[in-house]
Amino acid sequence: MKKKEKIWLSSPHMGGKELVYINEAFDSNWIAPLGPNVNGFEDDLKKYLNVGHVAALTSGTSAIHLALILLGVEQGDEVMVSTFTFSATVNPIVYQKATPIFIDSEKDTWNMDPELLENAIKARINKGRKPKAIIVVHLYGMPAKMDEIMTIANKYEIPVIEDAAEALGSSFKGQKLGTFGKFGILSFNGNKIITTSGGGALISNDKEAIADARFLATQARDDAPHYQHSEIGYNYRMSNIIAGIGRGQMQVLPKRIQRRREINKIYRNLLLEKKGITFLSEPNSDYYSNFWITTIIIDKEQTGFDREYLRNELDKDNIESRPLWKPMHLQPVFKRYPKYINEISENLFKKGLCLPSGSNLKNIDLERIIKITLNLFKF
Ligand SMILES: *Cc1c(COP(=O)(O)O)cnc(C)c1O
Repeated sequence: MKKKEKIWLSSPHMGGKELVYINEAFDSNWIAPLGPNVNGFEDDLKKYLNVGHVAALTSGTSAIHLALILLGVEQGDEVMVSTFTFSATVNPIVYQKATPIFIDSEKDTWNMDPELLENAIKARINKGRKPKAIIVVHLYGMPAKMDEIMTIANKYEIPVIEDAAEALGSSFKGQKLGTFGKFGILSFNGNKIITTSGGGALISNDKEAIADARFLATQARDDAPHYQHSEIGYNYRMSNIIAGIGRGQMQVLPKRIQRRREINKIYRNLLLEKKGITFLSEPNSDYYSNFWITTIIIDKEQTGFDREYLRNELDKDNIESRPLWKPMHLQPVFKRYPKYINEISENLFKKGLCLPSGSNLKNIDLERIIKITLNLFKF
């Protein structure tokens, strides 16, 4: 039997104008890091986010790395970080030979629990180790509890880096995510809500900090006619070709968000009456999620089947779905670091599934997914 057409979890979705900007770069021979597309992409992001300054970089990971360097995080320092995330949030802490301190989730948004965060900060201060930074993640596009988190961060005077890699276009109380902390980071990797094939950005309202980021991202060249360096630099700047894709993608971002939210609503409506399936939802109207990925929790007691069963059934039909992120404190490479946990992220990992959510999915694709899911219910 011929295999059914593959349904991906979240695949690239070009808008049409990307090639125009790439062709411009070819026609003018701006095949380089920097150039008009990089400036244009940074301006587009600045306007969209209503933020002071943006540096386009090679990845979200490099953006987190530069943010940590600019905050002076180094060997022996501790950084508070969400445990329920992708490893890219944590790796740059270790690049700096600093120590990640993992903080578990709360049940409303699945993001960093403010209460655990404050307890952890107090405990570290009591050990004489005041955290150097907090990295809060907005997972699956859902805003973390930013009022509480910023209040705590300000109270203890600890700078915040927002990992908004999955949350471009999401907002809290009308303010775009990534603009609350000292720094915000974005990713334009292939599976994100818009993509440049690979890329990222560092954002801040601190003009000098972003200027420093650009300096470090281009090998830390001093102002001299020859090559002179007083600091260690990095090759982290976005290229003018890649930024052309970004400019095209920015034109369709509102449409992409609209479609991801619509997909979330379709899943919700069709699975609504089934007991044992719950969705990650906006807690109230302060929270606006781009619903990058629609995620569900399956309670086997009520459904009669577990997460892995559904995932395998979808896989048999050539449909890609995936368990929720495995918490960082459970990862072999990070197991030895301190953690402040409840049971929430471990439970989410055990029972949660990411459903195909790409903005290029058609309603007929969603019907295929939902039909398989509904068929598993025996009643
Ligand atoms: C994708 C992602 C990143 C990393 O971005 P890259 O551009 O792939 O380096 C960081 N954090 C989270 C939560 C992500 O999903």
